[in-house]
Amino acid sequence: MSLKQELASVGSALRRLSPVVVDVSPQIRFVLLQRYMEMSMRNGRLSLVSFGILMFGFAYEAPLLPRIAALAVLAGVYAVRIWRSRCMRAQLDPAEPRSDRVYDVLLVLASSAWGFAPFVLAPWVSALNLYCITYAAFVAIGLLGITYIAALPAAFVLVGCSVIPLLLYFATQGEFVLVVLALSTLVCTVALLSRAAASHGTLLQALEAERENAALVRELQHYRRALETENASLDSSLRAAARAADRDPLTGLFNRRHIAAFAAPLAALVREGKEEVTLCMVDVDHFKQVNDRHGHPVGDEVLRAVGALLGARLREGDCLARIGGEEFLIVLRQCDVSRGRRVAESVRRNVVASQIRTAAGEVPITISLGVAQWAAGESFDALIDRADRALYDAKHGGRDRVEIDGDDARRLTTGPMDFLPSRSVH
Ligand code: GH3
Ligand code: MG
Ligand code: MG
Repeated sequence: MSLKQELASVGSALRRLSPVVVDVSPQIRFVLLQRYMEMSMRNGRLSLVSFGILMFGFAYEAPLLPRIAALAVLAGVYAVRIWRSRCMRAQLDPAEPRSDRVYDVLLVLASSAWGFAPFVLAPWVSALNLYCITYAAFVAIGLLGITYIAALPAAFVLVGCSVIPLLLYFATQGEFVLVVLALSTLVCTVALLSRAAASHGTLLQALEAERENAALVRELQHYRRALETENASLDSSLRAAARAADRDPLTGLFNRRHIAAFAAPLAALVREGKEEVTLCMVDVDHFKQVNDRHGHPVGDEVLRAVGALLGARLREGDCLARIGGEEFLIVLRQCDVSRGRRVAESVRRNVVASQIRTAAGEVPITISLGVAQWAAGESFDALIDRADRALYDAKHGGRDRVEIDGDDARRLTTGPMDFLPSRSVH
């Protein structure tokens, strides 16, 4: 395990032990660090003086050059802290109380006692060094406790743990002045942390609010997901219902309802001469015999196959529907009766030539078709009637053929082939 991982696991263990918080998000940890820095900036001068005097005491033993170097470092740190302090103060909330006089006086007294100690305690230099180092260590640990662990009680515990052994050490050494010195450190630190506690409470509230928000957001997200799922299933059932309303369940082709809706807007185009539309009515010949011979399920298979064969010959934009048992209707757009008839003929040939394979083996099928071109001002129902009559003619003409409506036949002026009967030659 790397040092970083070990520190992280110690951190999380302490967080679990801590009586206050303490699973803190990185954002909140950052906010905490910022707030403690703000506080430290407010008390910056005081703590710097105490730290400066302490460092000077530490350097007291050293020759002149290291002492000057230590002071130069201190001056640099001091300058940075003043500058940071200005930046921080600019962002501080003016409504918040700035400082606590009693606390400031306490801090000055304690830090002075502490800082001037080296001048008095020159004979005990090694003990003083120990004191300085321990102090630096517990400041670092205390800071870590506050900012990383984000729980003041934990910081108190850490500080107590580092100062109490120090006190014991000095007490067992019988150095009374150092005991006083260490005690003043303890008082000073506890005062500092107590002051931080007020802010910490606010921060904890913010933390709690953040947690509640996160929980609310999670709950809302959960509801949103549930709604989305419900919406999606409603959507798909709506789509399925809409599809079912427009489709023939057996073949999957459109039904009569759809084809009427499809044709409705075409009436105006035809009336205004903007488009030619031809209708083709299709009926499977002797289909009853298929059912009688092979059974209804095989008949169904044949109907599905016929539907697919009819669709294979159409253009995009045309519309095919199953409108009855074995009856189909095709709307051919941009198509006059002459071309409609050719299309119908090609559809017929395609069905005759196809081998429709079913569970009962191959079933030969023929179809009859009646074709009529939509006349301007004619209703769709009237057009269907004419196509139906043409289909009737085809049936009576012997089936397996295409007939066009009599009116259309008379109007046809195109090639003579169009007037010839279309019965196929096998
Ligand atoms: P024609 O050549 O004169 O059209 O004779 P036909 O036997 O095809 O016509 P008829 O109207 O006498 O019979 C149509 C048959 O279609 C009767 C009916 O049982 C069958 N039918 C209708 N709907 C379905 C269906 O959904 N599935 C099956 N398998 N058969 C159906
Ligand atoms: Mg039939
Ligand atoms: Mg029929």
